[in-house]
Amino acid sequence: MIDINHSKIKETNRKKIISLLINEEEITKLEISRKLNISITTVSTNITELRSEGFVEEVRSLESTGGRKAISYKLNEKCKYSVGIALTPKHIKIALVNLKKTIVDTIKIRHNNEGIEKIIYLIEENLLKILKDNGISLEKVLGIGISMPSTVDFKTGTIKNCYFLGVKEFNIKERFSHLNLPVYVDNEANLSAYYEFLNRKEKLNNLLYVSITEGLGLGIVINRNIYRGDNSASGEMGHMKIVIDGKECKCGARGCLEAYTSTNALIEEYNKDESYEITDIEEFEEKLVEKDEKAEKIMEKYLGTLSVGISNLIMILDSNSVIIGGDINNLLANKIEIIRKNIYRNNLFTNENNCNVSVASFKESYLLGAAMTSIEEFLEIR
Ligand SMILES: [Zn+2]
Repeated sequence: MIDINHSKIKETNRKKIISLLINEEEITKLEISRKLNISITTVSTNITELRSEGFVEEVRSLESTGGRKAISYKLNEKCKYSVGIALTPKHIKIALVNLKKTIVDTIKIRHNNEGIEKIIYLIEENLLKILKDNGISLEKVLGIGISMPSTVDFKTGTIKNCYFLGVKEFNIKERFSHLNLPVYVDNEANLSAYYEFLNRKEKLNNLLYVSITEGLGLGIVINRNIYRGDNSASGEMGHMKIVIDGKECKCGARGCLEAYTSTNALIEEYNKDESYEITDIEEFEEKLVEKDEKAEKIMEKYLGTLSVGISNLIMILDSNSVIIGGDINNLLANKIEIIRKNIYRNNLFTNENNCNVSVASFKESYLLGAAMTSIEEFLEIR
């Protein structure tokens, strides 16, 4: 038993030192010892080990006033890498991130949605390509995070329900088991929430991330953890009913929030009278910039409906931080005040001044969140 505890403490110290080095340019052993409250002997032993394994490098000898000169150390960010993969209805996106959490390279390829098997083939082909292009062997990869625009069983890595792929119950994690790497599969809204949470300067406990793309998803962080629900099906906010017997949703039901608030809903609404066809959300944005009256009217109604959805959400979960992201950032950037007013117009139960409703600071945060998963798991200090 003593041995097990001892090795656990050793592992914890080692991970604490790596975590500290990730955030420091260069640092001496004495500074590490003081910052982490670990004895200088333990720091020295760990630094020697980490240097021999390639995690840490000596930087330089610092001037000192008498006694031995102190040596500063830094993390060798090229020692390990993490890969994030995001599947969207039209693209496969891959991001390669180093141990300092900096993006080294990205790939974006269009797929023709020719089935899950073809997509898995394309993912692996491009994963190996990005590693090869950057001269990185598989041994240097800590793991792979996969973002899916669908319900996912995080524990088993199973896609539960993915409309555009037409897939129900498909274990995607198993399909990469031959790479002998940890594989983490998660829902895109969860990963976006996770990434925004990791990058918030202020210390938050709870955060809600409303992801608006061709669908509408919700990532929930409660007490600094992603809340997944008992069946990994939390956050299906897009399919909350807001109109009884309303508009048909792609899930097959009627009156879902998503049917009124996805990017597709805006495009469909604009094209309804067939006077002028727009094909994507960027064109809708252009119409608004041109002060097109029809687009402005649609937008006003849209903001009202979206705000009702978010107001309901705040009434249930009472979080002080709500972030709206996805493909809608540009469109909503200067509309936050309108959304806030709408949210609190008929919400007398939570205080407007306590809640920060904002547009996401990062684009493709689901991809970055997917890339961070393996690093965060690696640094998990238990
Ligand atoms: Zn629905």
